[in-house]
Amino acid sequence: MQFQPPASHFIDGAYVEDAAGKVIEVIYPATGEVIANLHSATPKIVEQALSSAKSAQKEWAAKTGTERGRILRRAAEILRARNYDLSVIETHDTGRPIQETTVADASAGADALDYFAGLAGMLTGEHIPLPNGDFAYTIREPLGVCLGIGAWNYPIQIACTKAAPALACGNAMIFKPSETTPLSALKLAEIFVEAGAPSGTFNVVQGYGDVGAAFVADHRVAKVTLTGSVRTGRKVYASAADGMKHVTMELGGKSPMIVFDDADLDNAVSGAILGNFYSSGQICSNGTRVFVQKGIKSEFLQLLSARLEGANIGDPMDPKVNFGPMVSHRQMEIVRGYIQKGVEEGARLVCGGKQLDRPGFYLEPTVFAEVSDEMTIAREEIFGPVMSVLDFDTEEEVIVRANASEFGLAAGVFTRDLTRAHRVAQKFEAGTCYVNTYNIAAVEAPFGGSKLSGVGRENSKLALNHFTQTKTIYISLNDVRAPY
Ligand code: NAD
Repeated sequence: MQFQPPASHFIDGAYVEDAAGKVIEVIYPATGEVIANLHSATPKIVEQALSSAKSAQKEWAAKTGTERGRILRRAAEILRARNYDLSVIETHDTGRPIQETTVADASAGADALDYFAGLAGMLTGEHIPLPNGDFAYTIREPLGVCLGIGAWNYPIQIACTKAAPALACGNAMIFKPSETTPLSALKLAEIFVEAGAPSGTFNVVQGYGDVGAAFVADHRVAKVTLTGSVRTGRKVYASAADGMKHVTMELGGKSPMIVFDDADLDNAVSGAILGNFYSSGQICSNGTRVFVQKGIKSEFLQLLSARLEGANIGDPMDPKVNFGPMVSHRQMEIVRGYIQKGVEEGARLVCGGKQLDRPGFYLEPTVFAEVSDEMTIAREEIFGPVMSVLDFDTEEEVIVRANASEFGLAAGVFTRDLTRAHRVAQKFEAGTCYVNTYNIAAVEAPFGGSKLSGVGRENSKLALNHFTQTKTIYISLNDVRAPY
């Protein structure tokens, strides 16, 4: 398969290039080979994208919600029809196994488009009765041009999660993918045009952080939705505040997962595996602080180590492989640094910890036990296949420790005690909580963080609030009484 796109950017319905922009090398994480070369946007490209989106938005917003929904649904159908080819691109861009990308990327993106296609025709305001037959009503207006900035772990899914509600509400979107995984968003832009969206409704512009920053600072951008690290989130939020722009921030986490001694241990181990090693651990909501009640700790670790032997590490294009490389050499080095810190600070390495002796950016699934709350690996987001197991005695104690984090993205509890499950879930300081499961992210349910993990919510009907603004219109059926 040829991965080199016709040009770097997709603006106003066509591929465009400006070779003066800094080179972006697209690297296949399984081999380290360069599979495409793109260019980061120049000011000329940024300007082109903004003016195209600005004018397309008017035409798009003039359509009825039902018409917009029909186009989004058509785009979803095309995504599904091309799922395999898109998955191959995603596997080459991210390194994630084809076993994952065929079920969790373009197909999840298509679900987002379907869901918001259904809601597009249902955006309505309110009628508010006032004295003597007067009334007010509200209308939900699109914001205008929305900027989407993506992370590299789930590129097309992130693009769809942002584009679907934005477009359903009548906004145009400029999407800047992560420079690490720039390919699939271009395919999505092609698909929107094919589905009938006016040119410029969804533009894709490649670039490093400075390109994202240039868009955030432009007065024509009304809203910024970012998926990325807290560090970037702080910068983007601050710059957006200057222009009083709407923001959605989907940022990092260091989520707790609590396993009580009455839990179904097989399920708890499955949850811990999913919440630490799926996508080689590169998932924002991962439950990387696994608190295990003391009495079951050794049984838990034994079961976990045995199950990890089933990790089939290898060529991500092999459908039997379920554990692929890290996204980049840089990310692998960051994670190796954390593993070293874990050892230095006295955690016990239960398994893994090494880079594989093969080309590409492969790290073994790694488990640390006897981790204490103060250790770096228990406090900072690692974003790789590293699980920290911590012991606890009581429910009261573990809740305090679970919440003692600056992050608040997700949290999970495994127990057979129904009352305790609800009690713990209510006490968690996190945007998404799981009881006897982990890492579900359904488009029908809200997703987002508290504390440093972000603001706003993606998915669900709530997302519509974040892509519209309310206008109130007062109507009088009576004479106007002035004092003089
Ligand atoms: P990152 O913050 O380095 O980059 C994210 C995006 O922001 C990239 O497209 C980057 O080019 C852009 N960017 C960087 N500096 C910018 C600036 N000053 N202005 C505007 N844009 C800028 O994050 P990453 O390494 O790509 O992704 C990993 C992070 O994303 C992790 O922290 C992870 O937890 C988080 N994440 C969160 C979610 C969520 O839904 N909460 C989902 C996936 C990933």
